[in-house]
Amino acid sequence: MKRAGRICSEILSLLKNTVKADMSTKALADLAAKEIKARGAKPAFLGYKDFPDVICISVNEEVVHGIPGKRLVQAGDIVSFDLGIAYEGMIVDSALSVIVDLKDKNKLRLLNATEQSLYKGIDRLRDGCRVGDIGNAVEKVLRKSNLGIIRDLVGHGVGHKVHEDPNIPNYGVSGTGPSLRAGMTVAIEPMATLGSEQVYIDSDGWTVKTADGSASAHFEQTVLITDNGYEILTPFN
Ligand code: MG
Ligand code: MG
Repeated sequence: MKRAGRICSEILSLLKNTVKADMSTKALADLAAKEIKARGAKPAFLGYKDFPDVICISVNEEVVHGIPGKRLVQAGDIVSFDLGIAYEGMIVDSALSVIVDLKDKNKLRLLNATEQSLYKGIDRLRDGCRVGDIGNAVEKVLRKSNLGIIRDLVGHGVGHKVHEDPNIPNYGVSGTGPSLRAGMTVAIEPMATLGSEQVYIDSDGWTVKTADGSASAHFEQTVLITDNGYEILTPFN
């Protein structure tokens, strides 16, 4: 999973540094496909529940599970890349959001707080911690920043499969929920919006969108719980 994690973060940072106005999301996905292949890895999302591409790319009001296509990204757009990598039989899952060119103050606030909430959540990981500890830490940051918290989608165990138990919500009460143990690997993934917490699934059957059309952000890391704390397996460069 460490090796898979390195590949995943290399490709996400390449996408982050490559995305610019007038690129189609399909062109970005094709770049990801090429880079995955060049590293001898496999795209974990391709064919997962019949998902049609190697990566989810979601723009602005699209929260997650966006299907790459003809849409051209524009200056000021928030683009979220969510990538699952399978390598030597093990899987990691990671995501990040970027703003293309023009930096809007509100959108920057959204991205910064969502990323910060991810690390606050991760920081609660240790042998014997409870799932509610993580959600509580994530929720506190998002609430303080007045952001909508997506509750219909959750973090999860990961490793042998893309999604494993337990579910890890981005809200919760400390000291409640399943216990996590050293040796477990989990994907922590806050999703937040500048408006509504309500989402719906687009007619394409995949793309999750905010009900009020507000912009959203998504950050995710795969993390190993160790005897002494944790190790992030998909660290951003
Ligand atoms: Mg993901
Ligand atoms: Mg995930």
